[in-house]
Amino acid sequence: MKNFLLLFLILSFSSCFTDTVEKIPQENRKVKIGKFNVDAAYAHIEKQISFGKRTMNTPEHDACKDWLIQELKSSGFEVIPQTFKAKAYTGEMLSGTNIIGRYKPEIAERLLLCAHYDTRHIADKDSSRIDQPIDGADDGASGVAVLLEIADQIQQIDIPMGVDIIFFDAEDYGDDKGRNDYSWGLGSQHWSKNLHEKGYQPKYGILLDMIGSADATFPKEGYSMKTAATQVNKIWKLANQMGHGKYFVSRRAGDYTDDHRFIVENTSIPMVDIINIKADGRFGHYHHTHADDINIIDKKTLGAVGQIVLATVIKESNKEF
Ligand SMILES: [Zn+2]
Repeated sequence: MKNFLLLFLILSFSSCFTDTVEKIPQENRKVKIGKFNVDAAYAHIEKQISFGKRTMNTPEHDACKDWLIQELKSSGFEVIPQTFKAKAYTGEMLSGTNIIGRYKPEIAERLLLCAHYDTRHIADKDSSRIDQPIDGADDGASGVAVLLEIADQIQQIDIPMGVDIIFFDAEDYGDDKGRNDYSWGLGSQHWSKNLHEKGYQPKYGILLDMIGSADATFPKEGYSMKTAATQVNKIWKLANQMGHGKYFVSRRAGDYTDDHRFIVENTSIPMVDIINIKADGRFGHYHHTHADDINIIDKKTLGAVGQIVLATVIKESNKEF
């Protein structure tokens, strides 16, 4: 009896970590592509900034985390906060939480959408206040804001497909001088080695990073083309058809270390990274500086990305992509 009870306890304990929901196919029902609400997305950036600098191990970061969990819940997502500890390049222990939101977790057909919500602890590319954290209006907040608005639309439209939205933590605490790639994306490294669901396999994933500044260009990034060329090409083609070819350029870019890299290294999920990279291969001039504040955000860019990702989700749900 004792052994039986112990076994039962172990089983129920481990079920908290790996979910084994029996999956069912989605309904065959088509839904209309709604209009992405860019004003709501912009307000979600302002709200994140209002918490202060959302850098690791700070109350500002944790207040933003709690708000994000509530927002996803209010959009009908079931939320699993995945906590982890990771050692930073500084030797500091970071307490992180990946926020995993699941819409219709019982549906077999799924898409993964993700962005990071932590912000950089230093302005190491700036010429002043280098040791101070940044607002991260674009680097962090913009991708999260677009996904919050998409979460809202998914619920309103009531799409039949399953969608998972993950806000990764500890993406931006990396070592820019030591060239240690694995000091970045600590949250996505943890998640990709500890999936919230056994055998988790969405059709593919889309990562948004720095998607809201004026004159942003999103080339076809290296890891994305290696693992998800078909998906990249159809999303970029759709963007061109919808009049956003100025942002979604056909240029190829090299391999960039972003959260998607760790996902493709540790899982078999194809990943598309939508990230602002200039023609010379660099990030925007504001990258990891104090200029990455609300003034850098352009509603035209933010709206274009939001509309394209929303359309992609709906088209996948309608099985017409
Ligand atoms: Zn960054």
